Amino acid sequence: MRRVVVWIAIVVLCAFLFLLVANANSLDDGILYLRDMLAYSETPAQPLNESGRFGFCKQFVSLRNAQRARFIENFLDARGIPFQRIPIYNAKFDNIFVPFSQQGPYTIYSAHYDKFFDEPEYQGASDNSAAVCMLLVVADELNKQHPKKPIALLFTGEEESGLVGAKAFYEDATKNNLQVANVLNFDSMGRAGLAARASGERSGFVFTIPLLGEFVYDGREIEPASTYRQPNSKLLAQLSRLVPITILDRMVAKSDGTYFQEQGWNAVNFTSDDMYYLNETWHTYQDRVELWDESNFQRVVDLMLGYARENQ
Ligand SMILES: [Zn+2]
Repeated sequence: MRRVVVWIAIVVLCAFLFLLVANANSLDDGILYLRDMLAYSETPAQPLNESGRFGFCKQFVSLRNAQRARFIENFLDARGIPFQRIPIYNAKFDNIFVPFSQQGPYTIYSAHYDKFFDEPEYQGASDNSAAVCMLLVVADELNKQHPKKPIALLFTGEEESGLVGAKAFYEDATKNNLQVANVLNFDSMGRAGLAARASGERSGFVFTIPLLGEFVYDGREIEPASTYRQPNSKLLAQLSRLVPITILDRMVAKSDGTYFQEQGWNAVNFTSDDMYYLNETWHTYQDRVELWDESNFQRVVDLMLGYARENQ
């Protein structure tokens, strides 16, 4: 009898070790998630300053998608910043492209402005109001600073309906021979630090079950993982010198950057690095401005402006 128990214990232990070894690459991302979960507090250390430079964002969150497009255009118009409207097939609103130089190859900072539920009560604060506000503040700055590097901003619509805005932009860019150096895509921000994520067709945490393959857990269900790609390490190393960036190679993100990367552009999907916060709020009515921490806004703007100032 005792011998049987010992053998069972050995088998369980081996299976556990086998699972651990198979998931060596996923472990660090999983540990970060647990750390964020334990440290999570609804009250941010630095709530959004309503009279500060991101204060306008508090109004932006309640706007519906069509109003959001208009808000962005009015913001740019008021500062004399030229932009182009690029249609998204037969959608009611357009992509908004804001080049700060005549010629590429462009570094594009992109963010989708549409929200998942197109209604005032749903704020989509992290997804993706915060990043839009960051880009608008950057637009204002770049307009004054005239960076050497060819920079453009891109506000996409119809991301939530399957990266449709990104596809429309890519096709238009290809048709017009627009030269693109790289795309830094910002989606799901608003708190904690900045993460560069692997990009794929399904968002979530990728782990391995030995003999069965890779699976992805999005906080709600487990599905077989589809192909995912890592961002360009040289570009990331360069960006990491400007602000700290957490690399999450098994926390896959699906956003506009995924489509661009699939087409061969050098694109990176950036999100907040607090995966617990993102998981708690993603596509829920809890995704609200009260959870924002302004330090995240500051950091992302520093990254965009810092990179714009570099020669290479
Ligand atoms: Zn999003």
